[in-house]
Amino acid sequence: MKRLPYYSSSFHGIVRGETIDKCWACHKSLNSSLLHSTKELKLFINNEFVDAVGKKTFPVINPSTEEVICHVAEGGEADVNKAVKAARAAFSYDAPWRTMDASERALLMFKLCDLLERDINYLASLDTLDNGKPFTESLGDLDYSIKTIRYYAGWCDKIHGTTVPCDGPYMCMTRREPVGVVGQIIPWNYPAMMLAWKWGPALAAGCTIVLKPAELTPLSALYIAALAKEAGFPPGVVNVVPGLGQGAGQAVTHHPDIDKVAFTGSTAVGRKVMGAASASNLKRVTMELGGKSPIVVCEDCGDLNAAAELCHSAMFNNHGQNCCAGSRTFVHASIYDEFIKLAVQFAKKRPVGDPFQEGILQGPQVSQLQMERVLGYIEKGKAEGATLACGGSRKGTKGYFIEPTVFCDVVDDMTIAKEEIFGPVQVILKYRTLDEVIKRSNETEYGLASGIITKDLDKALMYAQAVRAGSVWINCYDLCLPQTPFGGYKQSGHGRELGEEGLAEYLETKTILIKVPSKL
Ligand code: NAP
Ligand code: MG
Repeated sequence: MKRLPYYSSSFHGIVRGETIDKCWACHKSLNSSLLHSTKELKLFINNEFVDAVGKKTFPVINPSTEEVICHVAEGGEADVNKAVKAARAAFSYDAPWRTMDASERALLMFKLCDLLERDINYLASLDTLDNGKPFTESLGDLDYSIKTIRYYAGWCDKIHGTTVPCDGPYMCMTRREPVGVVGQIIPWNYPAMMLAWKWGPALAAGCTIVLKPAELTPLSALYIAALAKEAGFPPGVVNVVPGLGQGAGQAVTHHPDIDKVAFTGSTAVGRKVMGAASASNLKRVTMELGGKSPIVVCEDCGDLNAAAELCHSAMFNNHGQNCCAGSRTFVHASIYDEFIKLAVQFAKKRPVGDPFQEGILQGPQVSQLQMERVLGYIEKGKAEGATLACGGSRKGTKGYFIEPTVFCDVVDDMTIAKEEIFGPVQVILKYRTLDEVIKRSNETEYGLASGIITKDLDKALMYAQAVRAGSVWINCYDLCLPQTPFGGYKQSGHGRELGEEGLAEYLETKTILIKVPSKL
């Protein structure tokens, strides 16, 4: 087996340059020493691993094998209360987190990144085990998570207010201050990365955190909490309370002493989050929700094979479980038939299987429920008259694997063209004019992302200006970089993550006016 350039992880005895098999074997031995030791599977509150008040636990399933990996403490309202109390104490104006130099806060974040890098193999193993994504993709997620936290660490001592010329004998200055105690609720599709997108700006701003990871994928978050303690973060700055959406999740959104909730997940739950914020203490809310993003292939796209490959990755990356997936592929009528042939070829060649095996690009869907949802959409597509060009079935009988699926002859009012499938199903539609495709791109309740493939810059810029979506990718797709803002128009959410705008979501502006005597 080919050796991959792993980072070293001497802590867990994973040596630089080991094969995936070796790493996996190492992980299996860790299974008994770490996963089955009760320590790491409890809740993380005030820098300690503790049992849930109600002593309840829930099983975490490996979607590749359908076996239980371990049990995790199930946090509920009482546990969220404890975590918020710890986070509030850590946020006190005279607490170490608030009085340390901003540059020291940066050093803690850099230290956390060094530890993430040290244990990257182990963390990637946890995400693959828990979520089913290919191991090399988990490594990529971790690498990107580290880059994101480092990017925000650099911001810590560069968060400036302004001096404002104002009427009267006054001098005015503004300060940018942390929002306070923030609740963060994340989904299962990028477990470590969604944590990084949320912790990076929150910590740089100086907030304290109560994180609820997804019930399906809580393992890497608990491990990263342990690393935060090792890095030296003061107690209460980060707290991790795994549990169910109905339990810990709701307790976070309704909590009267949480200042802001940052949520990533479905639009349906997003509505509940806003409702809870409104009904409790009017906490600030930012939301990154679903999408049904168009990717447009123009007649002048140049290399059609490359365009088909880009659309294939835009849809099938992360098994289609991607909020900004290019899930409506619009292809110009003049190249439509040729494009379908290529799309089918790419889908048929896509290697599906054990996510720990090298070369695999698609593992299982995250859960039985998600697999059944996706298969349900495939049945609807067929029933409503779309042509199934390839795939369409579950793959094997063990694990939640689905064949890469392509539908053509899809029209806009079919369910598969309107709703987020969140699975490996490409939906290909035909268009004739730019004007038409702009209108159809915008005929959706979502507005997260979009893409266009063309050699004509005028056309690309016209589309970029007309489309109502938070991101437009021209001749590329799915680039969410630490430096560039990301978020949705319409029902894809509000607020932005990443970049300077992502940081601003965790800051308040305080205005200080000083009277200046005209004469002494
Ligand atoms: P979800 O239900 O919206 O879950 C996202 C997070 O919210 C999870 O941590 C979840 O906890 C929590 N949650 C659920 N109900 C809650 C409530 N009433 N109050 C507070 N928190 C709550 O999404 P999902 O079930 O994982 O996936 C369903 C659909 O969501 C997908 O098919 C997809 O359309 C969309 N989705 C979007 C993204 C994205 O990146 N935008 C990511 C994942 C899913 P539990 O884990 O216990 O449910
Ligand atoms: Mg799982």
